[in-house]
Amino acid sequence: MEHVDIAIIGAGPAGLTAALYASRARANTVVFEGGIPGGQIVTTDWVENYPGFPSGISGAELGDLMTKQAEEFGAVIKSFSPVSRLESKDDHFEIEAGEETYEADAVIVATGAIPRKLGVPGEAEYTGRGVSWCATCDGALYRDKTVCVVGGGDAAVEEAMFLTKFASKVYVIHRRDELRATKCIQERCFANEKIELVWSRVVGEIVGDGSKVSSLVLKSTAGEPDLHLPVEGVFIFVGVDPVSSIVSGLAETNDAGFVRIDHDGRTSIPGLFAAGDVTDSDLKQVITAAAKGASAAFEAVRYVDEERVCPL
Ligand SMILES: Cc1cc2nc3c(=O)[nH]c(=O)nc-3n(C[C@H](O)[C@H](O)[C@H](O)COP(=O)(O)OP(=O)(O)OC[C@H]3O[C@@H](n4cnc5c(N)ncnc54)[C@H](O)[C@@H]3O)c2cc1C
Repeated sequence: MEHVDIAIIGAGPAGLTAALYASRARANTVVFEGGIPGGQIVTTDWVENYPGFPSGISGAELGDLMTKQAEEFGAVIKSFSPVSRLESKDDHFEIEAGEETYEADAVIVATGAIPRKLGVPGEAEYTGRGVSWCATCDGALYRDKTVCVVGGGDAAVEEAMFLTKFASKVYVIHRRDELRATKCIQERCFANEKIELVWSRVVGEIVGDGSKVSSLVLKSTAGEPDLHLPVEGVFIFVGVDPVSSIVSGLAETNDAGFVRIDHDGRTSIPGLFAAGDVTDSDLKQVITAAAKGASAAFEAVRYVDEERVCPL
């Protein structure tokens, strides 16, 4: 069984930054990533709120740069290696990824989050046939068509603006009568002639002809009658759910399944740290994921070094 100082699970901004800090501290570091490195950010076209890139940067390029920087300092990144088991032993952790089993002195869980589903009729049936969670991936399929975005936060509004590059019309359906998105993003949204806000509505059903989406049934949150809205694409951005099953029964989570951490990224288990969107921190962004990844790595290195000098 291969032994490493620090194992990181997930190669999004939190895991990659943790890898950069741990490897620069000369810890033998391996990152397990279920898919390709980069995390959620590779699904977005443009990131304009990460410092150092005044004109913004594509999500894919930012993920790529973070990966290269971590590798530059010696972190080993194992793509397409989903971790299926994490166990705490007496003085180490055991990790199973594919056919391989590793032993690590400390583990940083940075498994992030996945976009939340609406849970309405038609959603599962038409996923990939009109229903999407990735405007960057699927937006170009809707050239000159009418689409909608469901949600009212930053991601929803930014993706709606991206979709106007292709679609002839983009409805933004929001359950409240004002957006949650950052003010400067809202201003751009209101100024975009292709975008129409549909206030105080939630999706009741996604309707199709058996092969693709044709319309939505919208329920009112203000007591109005149902509305039938013809659309060919439905892009859903209504928040995220944590990818925390790997630590269930191991570390403490909150009611929604987000891993509880202290200020420095420690979980309820000694030697087990967590960072980024999988944790119960409020702001879920690239910068906060990166910052928390750095803190978790700093503490994990300290934990490994102290354990070596003064074994538990
Ligand atoms: C459409 C969209 C647009 C966004 N736009 C912005 C923006 O403009 N600016 C901004 O700051 N933020 C933006 N965000 C939010 C930002 O992407 C996230 O906050 C950030 O990616 C969180 O980083 P993370 O490393 O915690 O998790 P993630 O990015 O979710 O990465 C987690 C990684 O862990 C991997 N993983 C999960 N389980 C396992 C396992 N068992 N084994 C191995 N690997 C596993 C996943 O494959 C994934 O690669 C956007 C998000 C979305 C969805």
